[in-house]
Order: sequence, then structure tokens, then C-alpha cells
Amino acid sequence: RLNRPSLDAYWMPFTANRQFKAAPRLLVSAEGMHYTADDGREVLDGTAGLWCVNAGHGRRRIAEAVERQLSTLDYAPSFQMGHPIAFEFAERLAAIAPGGALDRVFFTGSGSESVDTALKIALAYQRAIGQGTRTRVIGRERGYHGVGFGGISVGGLVNNRRMFPLLPGVDHLRHTHDLSRNAFVQGQPEHGADLADDLERLVALHGAETIAAVIVEPVAGSTGVLVPPKGYLERLRAIATKHGILLIFDEVITGFGRLGAPFATDYFGVTPDLITTAKGLTNGTIPMGAVFATRAVHDALMHGPEGAIELFHGYTYSGHPVACAAGLATLEIYEEEGLLTRTNQVQAQWHAAMHALRDCPNVIDIRTIGLIAGIELEPRAGKPGARAYDVFTDCFEKGLLIRVTGDIIALSPPLIAEAEHIDTMASMLGEALRRAA
Ligand code: PMP
Repeated sequence: RLNRPSLDAYWMPFTANRQFKAAPRLLVSAEGMHYTADDGREVLDGTAGLWCVNAGHGRRRIAEAVERQLSTLDYAPSFQMGHPIAFEFAERLAAIAPGGALDRVFFTGSGSESVDTALKIALAYQRAIGQGTRTRVIGRERGYHGVGFGGISVGGLVNNRRMFPLLPGVDHLRHTHDLSRNAFVQGQPEHGADLADDLERLVALHGAETIAAVIVEPVAGSTGVLVPPKGYLERLRAIATKHGILLIFDEVITGFGRLGAPFATDYFGVTPDLITTAKGLTNGTIPMGAVFATRAVHDALMHGPEGAIELFHGYTYSGHPVACAAGLATLEIYEEEGLLTRTNQVQAQWHAAMHALRDCPNVIDIRTIGLIAGIELEPRAGKPGARAYDVFTDCFEKGLLIRVTGDIIALSPPLIAEAEHIDTMASMLGEALRRAA
């Protein structure tokens, strides 16, 4: 191994630390669809890093844009002043506004910050329109919205919620998994739209006048690729509108082409009031997030009654010039290479290759949509997560990066994936599944 550093000083946080310490895996370089590990092995990237490197690795255009920006204007304060590239980037994003409607952009530094920002904007909006009693936020079980206190409060990871004081008044919709489980559905399940009526239950329970917003991932990613039944998001939208509740889509994973449309909002044809993004915004290079808002939300905050908005919000790194440069270059690549819709070209092969794994041992469900797959395994008796982790370890050793969450394997390759990459992923994963039997 080449100059492997001591692994002691850097405290890799919490649960993931133990697995890392037990079997350290270091990645030292990346190009296109591949990582190189520190022992020189090539590893096919089946996960676009952490669902973020949508245009593939090592894009020179992004590196050059970052270099140029660093040597022109490395940093500028984000309060009471601005810099041109942040406005240019916001304008370019507004031009591909999700649903053609959310064309007001607020920059953050990550997905978690985008979630906190969107929740605050939702509450501030309600206050600005004279609905200040609406302070409650509704999330969804098995949702994932990052690790800020806002995100873990509305999120569906019960352990995270148990350990800490949370945002007061948060409640959770039932998750959408019950109906789609074990059904091996390609795309959206036909039935289950009425699961969205769970929002009516929460409205009846708490009173509409207490609820500011509901936040969901259009397709839940990190907790195991949970695809909404047909009509579910439409119904959620209708119920939220009926009760004056803002709808927030967390598109940190689904944004920027993952489903074959620029945003899940476009893919499903359901338009929320706020959208959170990050990850693919800069192709995973320079950390950055963005919240998209409708003009109605924007205008209420900017032009509402005097004193309506007393919210102080914004980050040192909001609209960071170097991140904006990376984002602009990323967007140019997406647009020139047609990556925001490219998934449509490989989707049929993707569905077929992934669903062909259903005959592998212990596979109890496969869910695919866009360029995402969730493959659920029967847990080993008394050892939840162990089987999927073995598959992950085995794949990595053989040269394929997958992701595991509990006993669910998730894949989400860069959107540049070619037919041969998809074939290789499916066959390597199939072999690992058979070995883990
Ligand atoms: N929301 C969703 C839907 C996510 O998938 C993630 C990250 N996986 C986040 C928020 C948090 O983003 P970050 O890790 O950049 O804070």
C-alpha cells in the first residue's frame, strides 16, 4: 500500500466509524465511471459517490472553472453584498426551474442546510401571510433529510429521533413502503395513492391551523429506494393545498437528472412550493446546496407587510463563488451532454439488468426508477444488515462500489453510465449475491 496515512487522528463519525476502522477502504483518485483504491485497484462507481457525481468523475471543465474562480475571487461576504457569479448561477438554475415554477433560488452549503433553510422559509412564509399559528412540520417515516436538527426531526430514522430533543410539534406520515414491498415493481406501483390520505389524518389530529409544511422525498433514497405509488404525490399536493400547507420536496438525490428529468418535480408532474437540492448541483465537487421556491413564497417573504420577515438566515458560504463556478460548469456539462434526460436512453436496460437479479439467493424485492435501484435482501437470522454488508465488502474487493442501508442495496451510477457499465454492475453484483448466500 502506498503511503497509507495513520487512521487514528481523524475521527470518522459515529456508526460508520466502526465499519471503517475494521476494514479501512481508501479511494485515491477517480476518472469517469471509476475510482482507484489506494492499492491500485479500479472500482466501478455504482453509486455516483454518494448519489452526487452525476456527470462522472474528473471533469476537467469543472476543475478549470474552479481554478479560474479561485484565482479571480476566492471569497466574498454573502451578506449585504454579492458577487456576479452567484447571480449568474441562480439565473441559470431559474432557467431550468423545477416544474417551470420554482425559479427563486437560495444557496446553502449542503443538503442538510437546504433542509433547515426550507423548513425555516416555510414557517416564515406562514407567518408573513398572517398564519403564524402554523409552526408544525410533517415529515414521513423512513424519510431521510440529512443530519441537522430540522432534518432529523422530520426524518424517519427512529434512532436519530430518540436520542435528541427535536423540533417541537413534528409528526410523521406513514411511509409508502408497505404496498410496494416484495412486489418487484419497475417504476411506480399501481396502487397505494390513498396512503397520502394519511395527511388528512394528521390534519384532523392536529388542526390545519397548526401545520406549516409537509416535507417528503419524491423517491426516498438513503433509506432504501422507496418509490411512491402512482397518484400518491398528486394526492399529497391536493391535500396540502386544500389545507394551506406548503409542500416541500427534498430533491437532494432526485434533483439533476437522476430520474431522467431535471427534477422529480418534472418527472412526476407535481409541483411543490419549495425544493431542497445539493449533491448533483456541483457534481459532488465543491460542497453546495440550493433551495428553490415559488414566486408566491418568495414574494410573501420579500414584499410582505412591514416587519413580517424578521428572520436572520444565511451562511458564510451561501453562494460561495468557487462553488458557484463549479455549479455553473456542472450545469453546462449537464446541458451540453443532455445528462438531465439521459437516463431515458439506458433506463430499459437498467430495469432489465437489475430485475434479472431477482433469482439470486435471498433477494426479496427489487425496486427501480430512473437510474436508481434498491435491492432488498432477506436479513440473516439475528443479524440485520450483515448479509448486505457482506455483499458490499465483496463487491468492493472485486471492484464495484455499491451502497447498503440495512439489508437494502442501493445503486445510482453516474448518469454517463454506458450499456457495458450497467452489464458489469449487474453481473458483479449477481456474483456477490450468490457468494453471500
Ligand atoms: N436530503 C436527502 C434526501 C438526502 O439524501 C441527503 C443526503 N443523503 C440529505 C438531505 C443531506 O444532505 P447532506 O449530506 O449534503 O447534508
